[in-house]
Amino acid sequence: MVRLKNKRCAVIPALLAAALLLPSCGKPEASADADAMLAGAAFEERTDADEPADLPEEEDVVVLEPAVPAAGVGRIMPVVVEQREELICIDPGHGFVDPGTGSDSYFPEGIYERDITIEVSRLLEDALKARGFRTILTHDGETMPEGADLNWDGVFSAPYERPPYINNVIGPDYLVSLHVNAVGNPEKCGAMVFFDQNYYKNNDWSETVAADIRDAIEEGVETTAVTQLVDSKDMEDASFAINRETKCASSLIEMGFCTNETDAEKLQDPAWQKQMAEAIAEGIEKFFDDLKNA
Ligand SMILES: [Zn+2]
Repeated sequence: MVRLKNKRCAVIPALLAAALLLPSCGKPEASADADAMLAGAAFEERTDADEPADLPEEEDVVVLEPAVPAAGVGRIMPVVVEQREELICIDPGHGFVDPGTGSDSYFPEGIYERDITIEVSRLLEDALKARGFRTILTHDGETMPEGADLNWDGVFSAPYERPPYINNVIGPDYLVSLHVNAVGNPEKCGAMVFFDQNYYKNNDWSETVAADIRDAIEEGVETTAVTQLVDSKDMEDASFAINRETKCASSLIEMGFCTNETDAEKLQDPAWQKQMAEAIAEGIEKFFDDLKNA
């Protein structure tokens, strides 16, 4: 191993790589440092005029020691995501001993709404994280979240346990609850985005975010019908507690009908689930971008 003659040389390739990889949102100091280092090194290293500039002398060959580099130096960062302040809460509908809908449907035996909502919720969490959002799930389908079992009855239910837990423990900027629809008529199909803009909300975002999500689903998901935007005020029966009782802006998305054959197939398809998750994330991102730029 050749001893490092000029320690600055050793970090140049790494710094150059870091400078090239950093997009415009990266710290400007990193690029400036790299430029300064490169400029200094260029003058110091050219000691032999007969030697081609790009071929170092044999003794100048540098072996990089696998020492821990300075933070951010020498590490490949394929994607730099601008981090956001907003915390998005994802609620996988049902779970635990509550399977949700699925019996008397086109789902195979043993597959229920809770199995689909947890899958799409995980994909949605990935999609939101990739856009820089902070995220939290109300539950992972396996363990009761801490602080949520105030009225423990084995059913972490939407009407009673979830809204207080979301309001008092999580306190998100936005909540989206994922569900699967079921109805007697097998012709009924497609996604529906519900919102409830009531006096209890701490802002008036719910309708706008829901509309952005609806538009993104229309744009990015192979749906079987036009995606509906539904104001709870227009519903004949009661509105959804998860939207009504939470203080943050929120929506509940019925992603499709398990009682429709085509929808049931799509709901179980991982590629389609990813389309849906990406579209919901896209809609949420659009809203918060618009809010920032307003
Ligand atoms: Zn449901």
